[in-house]
Amino acid sequence: MDYDLLVIGAGIHGVTIAKAAAQRGCRVLVLEQYSGPAQGTSSKSSKLIHGGLRYLESGQFRLVRECLSERRRLLKTQPDLVKLIPFHIPVYRHTCRKTWMIAIGLNIYRLLGGKDFKHIARQDWAKLDGLKTLGLKHVFRYWDAQTDDLQLTRRIIEEAEHLGAQVHYGATFYGAQCSADHCDIRFEMAGEVQNVKARAIVNASGPWVNTVLKKMSPPITPLQIELVQGSHIVVPGKLKRGIYYMEAPRDQRAVFVMPWHSNTMVGTTETPYQGDPAKVRPLEAEIEYLLETRNHYFEAQAKREDVIESFAGLRVLPAGNSNPFSRSRETVLHSDKKLPNVLSIYGGKLTSHHHTMTRVMKKLKGLKTAGA
Ligand SMILES: Cc1cc2nc3c(=O)[nH]c(=O)nc-3n(C[C@H](O)[C@H](O)[C@H](O)COP(=O)(O)OP(=O)(O)OC[C@H]3O[C@@H](n4cnc5c(N)ncnc54)[C@H](O)[C@@H]3O)c2cc1C
Repeated sequence: MDYDLLVIGAGIHGVTIAKAAAQRGCRVLVLEQYSGPAQGTSSKSSKLIHGGLRYLESGQFRLVRECLSERRRLLKTQPDLVKLIPFHIPVYRHTCRKTWMIAIGLNIYRLLGGKDFKHIARQDWAKLDGLKTLGLKHVFRYWDAQTDDLQLTRRIIEEAEHLGAQVHYGATFYGAQCSADHCDIRFEMAGEVQNVKARAIVNASGPWVNTVLKKMSPPITPLQIELVQGSHIVVPGKLKRGIYYMEAPRDQRAVFVMPWHSNTMVGTTETPYQGDPAKVRPLEAEIEYLLETRNHYFEAQAKREDVIESFAGLRVLPAGNSNPFSRSRETVLHSDKKLPNVLSIYGGKLTSHHHTMTRVMKKLKGLKTAGA
């Protein structure tokens, strides 16, 4: 046998699992189709390490508690990459979510493991990065964390390599013939098809999850999913006071306005996506929507030509008719009873990557290592 574990994808999930398996003495190979780690969703997120205050609205209490606990862990283990930052929620006369609703939400958030929140006194509103004050009734401040998703993923893959995991970039998984105790795997790298054997496969290919699953033989029934695009824009202007949690005037969705290096990042959107995940790009309508939301709340106005950068990523959500905003954000692990050694990860959060890894390792507990 060449490897104990093959991991498909060097996003946050793939690299974390590769590191954990290498730490346990497994021979690990990671295949990544792009030329480096985190070129898919894991560099296109909102870069928040948070419980997800807004998930309380859809009753996802367990997810919020789990993510807040992961936030605490990451603040300790990655202090230079994961930092607490104040979040501000302004409440205007026209805001759909009422002051008392937000206060209840923040209290529940605190009880689930968040930190204390407070009201910002009216005389301090002028210090809030040029936030419009006409019609402003309250400003809440609470705490969550921000990271650099690309750097976090890079760090973990470097640690995995240091522990002995092998990583092939520019290597596309082509297919695998699997039995309950091993898989014969084919992948393409530098124009050549290569073959390796591994005892188990983790399909951590993010929005490509079902494309990859279709290449397994015997076939494994995929879960029904929808890909939902989320875009961000970066505009000039440094925010000094932290993050602003806004209600988009057009549809009342939650949109974040965040400091990002010396600029401001605004996101995100929820646009159903069909097609090749590699081709996802921000739509002009999404850029307009994000600019409109930001400009609605800040005195200094940004124009289309001011947009420095825009990027889009894909969420993997369970298929359904409800609005994507209210769909479950739980991470689902999927395998076939006859092939427990082929595991696929659906969805998930950057914040909970470590927790997802522990669930995956538990499922693969039968994984034999070189010495076993
Ligand atoms: C818009 C948006 C905002 C988000 N914001 C946050 C946030 O603020 N906080 C938070 O906690 N979470 C957030 N998330 C969720 C989080 O970003 C994702 O859950 C996480 O990045 C998914 O990581 P992954 O490793 O599963 O997938 P990916 O990062 O997409 O990695 C999959 C990898 O598999 C590779 N791959 C695919 N097919 C093949 C193949 N055949 N062969 C070889 N390699 C292959 C791809 O190239 C890719 O690199 C956000 C998600 C989106 C879309």
